[in-house]
Amino acid sequence: MKVHEYQAKEVFAEFGIPITEGGVAFTPDEAEQITRELGKPVVVKAQVHIGGRGKAGGVKLANTPEEAREKADAILGMDIRGFTVKKVLVTEQVGIRDEYYCGITVDRDARMLVLILSASGGVDIEQVAAETPEKIAKIHIDPLVGLWPNQMRRAVFSSGIDTSKIKEISSIIHKLYKAFLARDCSLLEINPLVVTDDGQVLALDAKMDVDDNGLFRNKDLLKYREIGGDLDEYEAFAKENHVTYVHMPPDMRGPVGIAGNGAGLVMTTLDVVARAGLKPNNFCDIGGGGDAEHSIKCIETVMKDPDVKGFFLNVFGGITRCDIVAQALVDYADNFPAGCPVVIRLTGTNEDIAKQMLEETRYTFVSTMQEGAEKIVELIKGLEVGA
Ligand code: GDP
Ligand code: MN
Repeated sequence: MKVHEYQAKEVFAEFGIPITEGGVAFTPDEAEQITRELGKPVVVKAQVHIGGRGKAGGVKLANTPEEAREKADAILGMDIRGFTVKKVLVTEQVGIRDEYYCGITVDRDARMLVLILSASGGVDIEQVAAETPEKIAKIHIDPLVGLWPNQMRRAVFSSGIDTSKIKEISSIIHKLYKAFLARDCSLLEINPLVVTDDGQVLALDAKMDVDDNGLFRNKDLLKYREIGGDLDEYEAFAKENHVTYVHMPPDMRGPVGIAGNGAGLVMTTLDVVARAGLKPNNFCDIGGGGDAEHSIKCIETVMKDPDVKGFFLNVFGGITRCDIVAQALVDYADNFPAGCPVVIRLTGTNEDIAKQMLEETRYTFVSTMQEGAEKIVELIKGLEVGA
């Protein structure tokens, strides 16, 4: 589960990690009001479940209540990489001397947590990581041993952080680690962790991903869950209809809609389609043992994003019966947009019955996944040329 910055900062406050004062506004009026109450210059910050808000124009400084209203008006309703801004955090503005990065996440390969620290924090941290990885200190934390003070000091010294702040920063790292464990996080990040002009150390941003499997013992975090909060409209539709569906991240999305049965087969299908030359838009696992109604909902979900230009169904029937999927394809046939390529690979249980049922349809049939991937790519590319 993803939570917003202002919510993660409530968790920070609970663990004693220093943050700036502020409030959440849903309207420009409220932003103005909060600024008036704070009586200080503020930062107006989009609250969306995606990073890179600063670069997208979703973080703006405002020196007066009136200015805060204007900035909130500009940010509310803004689209940040596919997420619409519905609320902003209005929080005290500080003068920044240094911007650091401090985060804890899970390193699956090492089977440990990893503390990541850098003196080069801020909005370009990805670039720092890619181009000058030596500027980023990584210290593994053995979950059976915990985080030791000497490890924290080592992290601070090797990260290039101002060592005169070692006491404050070690204390923040320690609290971040405690919060990470207590709240069953998969990521807990402060970027930037700043030293202000007057020497204070503060968490100016907060990113927190909670492992859903730990929510049963963190029930108070459920209040942060937004119905459809980190889901877009297509994912929300899928959820409502009990369809297992993933919309690819906006910057990775292509024109191919994909459905199949079984997570492994579907994931492989994504790779094979991508290698054939076009990116998937989404994918859906129709699962096994469902009825035709459910399969229809699956197809409908996959086709919902108007950027989907073609549909590839890859089913290897075991528990999933090909005739049931075929029934869905027959029933749904008229709902595919005119000219939309539909490529079907349907083999396994009751394959013969399925073939008979689909005889009259205009779908393109293939017998292997590879062939299907190449076909759907060819047909969609053909549309582009034709258009
Ligand atoms: P992100 O881009 O989504 O990670 O949003 P952040 O909360 O990290 O804000 C982006 C950038 O805005 C930060 O790296 C800072 O440089 C800047 N920023 C945020 N708060 C303040 C502030 O109080 N004062 C100043 N001067 N800059 C700020
Ligand atoms: Mn940030």
